Amino acid sequence: MLNQDLSLMTARKYDVLVIGGGNAALCAALTAREAGASVLLLESSPREWRGGNSQHTRNLRCMHEAPQDVLTDAYPEEEYWQDLKKVTGGITNETLARLVIRDSSHCRDWMRRHGVHFQPSLSGTLQLSRTNAFFLGGGKALLNAYYRSAGQLGVQIRYEAPVDRLELRDRRFVAAYIGSERIEARACVVASGGFESNREWLREAWGQIDGQWIADNFLIRGTRFNMGVLLKFLIDAGADTIADPTQCHSVAIDARAPLYDGGICTRVDCVSLGIVVNKHAARFYDEGEDFWPKRYAIWGGLVARQPGQVAYSVIDAKAIGRFMPPVFPGEKAKSLPELALRLGLDERAFVSTLANYNSACRAGTFDHAVLDDCHTEDLTPPKTHWARPIDTPPFYAYALKPGITFTYLGVKVNEQAAVHFSGKASSNLFAAGEIMAGNVLGKGYTAGVGMAIGTAFGRIAGAQAAAAILEDAQRAAA
Ligand SMILES: Cc1cc2nc3c(=O)[nH]c(=O)nc-3n(C[C@H](O)[C@H](O)[C@H](O)COP(=O)(O)OP(=O)(O)OC[C@H]3O[C@@H](n4cnc5c(N)ncnc54)[C@H](O)[C@@H]3O)c2cc1C
Repeated sequence: MLNQDLSLMTARKYDVLVIGGGNAALCAALTAREAGASVLLLESSPREWRGGNSQHTRNLRCMHEAPQDVLTDAYPEEEYWQDLKKVTGGITNETLARLVIRDSSHCRDWMRRHGVHFQPSLSGTLQLSRTNAFFLGGGKALLNAYYRSAGQLGVQIRYEAPVDRLELRDRRFVAAYIGSERIEARACVVASGGFESNREWLREAWGQIDGQWIADNFLIRGTRFNMGVLLKFLIDAGADTIADPTQCHSVAIDARAPLYDGGICTRVDCVSLGIVVNKHAARFYDEGEDFWPKRYAIWGGLVARQPGQVAYSVIDAKAIGRFMPPVFPGEKAKSLPELALRLGLDERAFVSTLANYNSACRAGTFDHAVLDDCHTEDLTPPKTHWARPIDTPPFYAYALKPGITFTYLGVKVNEQAAVHFSGKASSNLFAAGEIMAGNVLGKGYTAGVGMAIGTAFGRIAGAQAAAAILEDAQRAAA
């Protein structure tokens, strides 16, 4: 049931303008509408591509004190916080992070009311049954449910509506522009994602090695519509920023993935079951450092720092069946020299790297579900868990490239999701989702936190935008 229709209390124009069409935008639009505000949502993509990166998602990281429908055991606030603190290296705002964590413990009831269904976690390398609730039908189904609910509640939605600038006055939102069209609203939620689709900006952020633009070898796992236009606008307009432009979620993905929208099926999830070498056939990082859900998001950056931004994930027959295979089959060979040949790597260097690794493996009790005692000795870099000799044919390998998921550079917000200018909060301009995720994720990642941030801050921003209008209306009436 909607509260009193706030728009009736004031002259007719939209109360809340929501810019973006992904999870954070829909959460904001639905919440503002539930609070009685009239809402217009502007999505830059055509209808068939709506939903930004959110359409590619699968799950939400949830705090819970006891087993729930699709979640096993318990995942208390403190453990969630410690996980976040560890992956970000402490570069996070604890107040905002805890706010996200607490919201994740009860947001699913609200999500269900808007048509989202959950399913138990999928089996595979990601040990997520305790921590992450999966969306039945994935992010696409979640967004379809939200769009359906938004339509039923009377949220106005426009597709192919890329906002290119805002009109701001004294830290307050006045209007948004699509070309020469001016759209006024009493409050605004910017939920237009990061700048991961903007290859020029990625180039600028990552720079060059040996005359080669590093970002030219990046693939973009999600939407092509997150060009960072409004992020750039807000930065230029004096909004306070958070995180640095090279910090991002990036994953090692199959080098054959398309430039955009390859999504989840191009991710290569067997890294912790084998070894990874660069184009000189040398290992460069501990593949078994921690559970894959806590480490997969650093591998894009690791590969980005290798020559040619390419690497190769190598496994043997023992790994098959223990991870979700990517959509394209890997290179397969009966012997290690043959595999080197197929990958175009120097055969001697490759075989020697494998021999050194194999002889450094110390036998233990292999268990991929725990941080087991299978490790290497006297090897640099070490492999600290799940180290087993790669000796059982057939051998497999996947060429990897950095797949950028989303960037962390964003605008600084407070607990009300208000955008800050020179340390002062705007009273009617709010931000949610990737465009402010850097407040919680200064670096690193743990699976399912992106949607947790967007859901929490989308709902906060929507509620605050509606509340700002009510305050204005009351002030005008006084
Ligand atoms: C392949 C993949 C898998 C992922 N899996 C998960 C997962 O399982 N769990 C998880 O928590 N996170 C996951 N993520 C991360 C997650 O997608 C993001 O954290 C989250 O979707 C961000 O939501 P958002 O609404 O801020 O951005 P988005 O969903 O990207 O939405 C941004 C929207 O803004 C629109 N837009 C951009 N610029 C403008 C403009 N100028 N005017 C109007 N509209 C504009 C875009 O078209 C888009 O609709 C995944 C990401 C990818 C790419």
